[in-house]
Amino acid sequence: MNSSRNASRARSVILDPTLPPALCLQASALFLDVDGTLLPLSAHPREVEVPASLLETLNALRDLSGGALALVSGRPQATLDQLFAPECFALAGQHGTERRDAVGNLHIDRRHAETLARLRPLAGELAAGIPGAFVEDKGLSIAIHAQHAQGALARLRHLLEEALATETGLSLLEGKAVLEIRSVQADKGRALRAFMAEPPFRGRLPVYLGDDVTDESAFEAVNLEGGLSIKVGPGPSVARFRLASPDAAVSWLTGHVRLEERP
Ligand SMILES: [Mg+2]
Repeated sequence: MNSSRNASRARSVILDPTLPPALCLQASALFLDVDGTLLPLSAHPREVEVPASLLETLNALRDLSGGALALVSGRPQATLDQLFAPECFALAGQHGTERRDAVGNLHIDRRHAETLARLRPLAGELAAGIPGAFVEDKGLSIAIHAQHAQGALARLRHLLEEALATETGLSLLEGKAVLEIRSVQADKGRALRAFMAEPPFRGRLPVYLGDDVTDESAFEAVNLEGGLSIKVGPGPSVARFRLASPDAAVSWLTGHVRLEERP
C-alpha cells in the first residue's frame, strides 16, 4: 500500500474512547510529548516543573523498555534537559529540529538559522502589538505565545503567513494558543520515524502520547505502524485511544511500572 493511501486511512481512524490496552514494555517504543501530556499546560513555558515522582516513572519506564523511551516536544533540547535534570533522555526538541538519539548523538538541522535570525525582530514587533502575547526564541524556531490573546491569533497568523510567503523551507505551525515559525521538515511524525529506524526503538511497537494538533503527524506515523496512538485531553484526533488529562496519562504510565514491580 502506498504512503498516501496509508495516510488517508490514518486520517479516517475513529477515536476509540476506551482506555488504551496494557503495554508489553519490553516490546514497546515509548514516545512522550511533554506539555499538556506529562505536565499540565501553563500560561508560560517557564512556569512548569517536573515532579520527582514523574522523573521516577520515566526512569523506570526507560529501564523496563530497554532504553526505548524518548521525549518529543516543541521545547528546545536545552530546556527539556533543564526540566528533566539530572536525567538526560533521548529526545526530539523543537518538533524534531534537534534530536538526541538513544546513545546521545545529536542530530540538528541548522539550515534555516540565518533566515530565522532575520525574522526574529519581526516576530518581536508583531507580539508587541498584541497585549499578553510574547515571543519564545528557541534558537532554531520561534514561537509566539498568545494564551491571553486568543482573539488576536487569526490576525497574527495572517501577518506571519504573509511574512513567510517569500521564505523557502520555513512554515507556520499552530498549536494551543501558539504559532511557531519552524522548518517545514520539522514535525513530530518525522522525528518518530527517525527514532524508529534506530536501536533500541527499531522493531518495537511505537506508542505515542500527545495532546496537541502538533502531535497529529506522530499519531499518523504510529497508526501506519499499527502502534498505540493516544490523545491526551479533549479535541479531535486521528489517535486511536484517549486519556482524559496529563494526570490520567501519568497514572496510566505509572501503572505499567507498578505492574512490572509486582512480586
Ligand atoms: Mg503538548
